[in-house]
Amino acid sequence: MKHRVDVMIPEDEVQARIAEMGREINERYRDSEELVMVGLLRGSCVFLSDLCRHITSTDVCLDFMTASSYGSSMTSSREVRIIKDLDDEIKGKDVLIVEDIIDTGHTLSKVREIMRLREPKSLAICTLLDKPSRREVDVPVDWVGFAIPDEFVVGVGIDYAQRYRNLRYIAKVVPLE
Ligand code: 5GP
Ligand code: MG
Ligand code: MG
Repeated sequence: MKHRVDVMIPEDEVQARIAEMGREINERYRDSEELVMVGLLRGSCVFLSDLCRHITSTDVCLDFMTASSYGSSMTSSREVRIIKDLDDEIKGKDVLIVEDIIDTGHTLSKVREIMRLREPKSLAICTLLDKPSRREVDVPVDWVGFAIPDEFVVGVGIDYAQRYRNLRYIAKVVPLE
C-alpha cells in the first residue's frame, strides 16, 4: 500500500514521557528486591530498552515473551498463543509487563492471566501507547505513556509490515490514493 508517515508524537515528547514513567516506576519499586521487566516481542523492545535505563531504585532483570493472537476480531474470545515463553521463573518476584500498544486488550489480558497463574509477588503493566476507544476487554494498566486516537501508528518499536520500528518518534500511517 502506498503511504506516507506523519509525525504524531515527536521524539522529545516520547523521551520526556518515558523518563517521567521511569521516575514513577522507581518510586513504586523503591523497596523491591528485584524488578523483572517482561517485554512483549517484538514491538516493546525499543520502549523497554529506553525505559529500563531510567530504573535506578532497584535491581532490574529483563525477560521476553512473544504472544500471538488468532481468530476473528469480531469474536471476543480470541485465542492467544505463546510463541516464545519467558526464560526464567517469576514466582515470588515483582513483575512489570512492558507493552508497545494496547488496542482491544485481548493480548494483554491473556498474557496477564498466564503470568498471574505463575504466582509473582506483584504484577503490573506499563504500555507506551493506548487506544482506549478500541478496548473490548478490561485490562488493569498501571502506566500509560500516551492515550491516542484510533489511528494506525508506527515508530519506537512499532511496525508496519516490519518496517519503521527504528523511528525515534511515533507517526501515523496515511494511505495515499
Ligand atoms: P490487542 O490489544 O488488540 O490484543 O493487540 C495489541 C497489539 O495490536 C499490539 O501489541 C500491536 O501489535 C497491534 N496494534 C494495535 N494497534 C496498532 C497500531 O496502531 N500499529 C501497529 N503497528 N500495531 C498495532
Ligand atoms: Mg505488542
Ligand atoms: Mg506488529
